[in-house]
Amino acid sequence: MKSYLKNIWHGVTTTAKGMRLTWRHFMTKPTTIQYPDPGEETYFSPYERGLHEFEPEKCIVCYLCAKACPVDCIRIEEDKGERKGKQKVLTVYEIDYNKCLFCELCVDPCPVDCIHMGQQYDLASFDRTEHVKIDFMNGEGPWRTAKTSAHPDAGLRGHLEGKD
Ligand code: SF4
Ligand code: SF4
Repeated sequence: MKSYLKNIWHGVTTTAKGMRLTWRHFMTKPTTIQYPDPGEETYFSPYERGLHEFEPEKCIVCYLCAKACPVDCIRIEEDKGERKGKQKVLTVYEIDYNKCLFCELCVDPCPVDCIHMGQQYDLASFDRTEHVKIDFMNGEGPWRTAKTSAHPDAGLRGHLEGKD
């Protein structure tokens, strides 16, 4: 009889413990993000490695980033016939996101700190050919977005606000 009552008591207390945990989670705000609903912005670590951000006016066309890339997915072209003083003129800076590993190995070698890993992660599209290769010199890509961890002040948002 004693062990029978003990078993009942054990069942009640363990159920109460489990329900306490259940209720705690029931009352907590869910962390699920309803992507892609408007206003549903998620938190990113400052170390997030999303689509690149590029500052073309700083680039000295040294090709160090392309040489460091382990999968050879950066294509750089310059205008051989034109120079701005001693400065080469960049015409194409394209990254093939079919191949990119988001490894960040292209960022460190840059002597002028003009290529960064951004926080744009959204590569979803309805067409496979869209967004796969981004030419940053053609106004494509999310370069200089406001979310960059490398340059929080130099963002597209800040750029547009400066124009208004
Ligand atoms: S993140 Fe890595 S794979 Fe992508 S372009 Fe840079 S070096 Fe290449
Ligand atoms: S390493 Fe920097 S400066 Fe050199 S080509 Fe790449 S982005 Fe331009």
